[in-house]
Amino acid sequence: MGRVNTSQSASLAQLVEWLHQFGSLVQQNKGYLTELDSAIGDADHGANMARGMNAVLNELPETSGADALFKKVGMTLVSSVGGASGPLYGTFFMRFATPLGSGDEVSAESVAAALRAGLEGVLSRGKAELGDKTMVDAMTPAVEAIEAAVSSGESLAEATRAGAAAAREGREATIEMVARKGRASYLGERSKGHQDPGATSTAYLFEALAASLDGA
Ligand code: ADP
Ligand code: MG
Repeated sequence: MGRVNTSQSASLAQLVEWLHQFGSLVQQNKGYLTELDSAIGDADHGANMARGMNAVLNELPETSGADALFKKVGMTLVSSVGGASGPLYGTFFMRFATPLGSGDEVSAESVAAALRAGLEGVLSRGKAELGDKTMVDAMTPAVEAIEAAVSSGESLAEATRAGAAAAREGREATIEMVARKGRASYLGERSKGHQDPGATSTAYLFEALAASLDGA
C-alpha cells in the first residue's frame, strides 16, 4: 500500500513524479513539438524542452524540501534552454516553488497558490495576454480550473484533471489565434490555422500533473 490518501494534499514524491511524467511526455512528443514550431517558429521547441527536462531530471537534488527543489528546477531550465521557453518555464517553476514551503506534503490550497504564482511569473516575464497565441492561453484556463475545483472542495486528483482538460481546450483555441508575442508574431495573420507549440507543451505539463496526482 502507498501513502495514506489524504485526498487534499500532494506529497513531494508525487510532485517529483510530475517532473518525470512531464519529461516523458516532452520526450515522446519532441518531434511533434518541433513540427508545430517549424510551421510558425524556428523548429526548436521539441529540442528545447527535451534538453531542458533532461537537465532537470539529471540534476534533481536528492534531499531538499519542495521549495528548494522546484527553485532548482526553474534555474536549471533557465540555464539549459536558449529559446524563449526556457526562461518562461524556468520562471514558472521558480515562482511555483515559494508557496510550497519546505515540507514534503503540500496542501491542495498551496498547490493551487503555487500554480497561480507560476502563471503570474510567466505573465510578468513574457508580457503576453490571453489570446496572444502563447503558452499563457493553455496555462491560464488550467490554473483557473484548478483554483475553482480546489476552492469548491474537490480532491487534487479531480482538480488537476479539470486543469488538464482546460489546458487542452486552451491549446486547441490557439489554432485560430493570430500570434502577438514570440517568433510566431513575425508571421502576423499567417500564424492563424496553426497550433501554438508552447501551448501544446503546457497542455502536457497539466496532463502530467493530473497523472502524477491520480488517486490523490
Ligand atoms: P523560441 O521562440 O525562442 O524558439 P521555443 O520555440 O522553445 O522558443 O518556444 C516557443 C513558445 O514560447 C511559443 O510557442 C509560445 O507559446 C511561447 N512564447 C514565446 N514568447 C512568449 C511570451 N512573450 N509569453 C509567453 N509565451 C511565449
Ligand atoms: Mg522555437
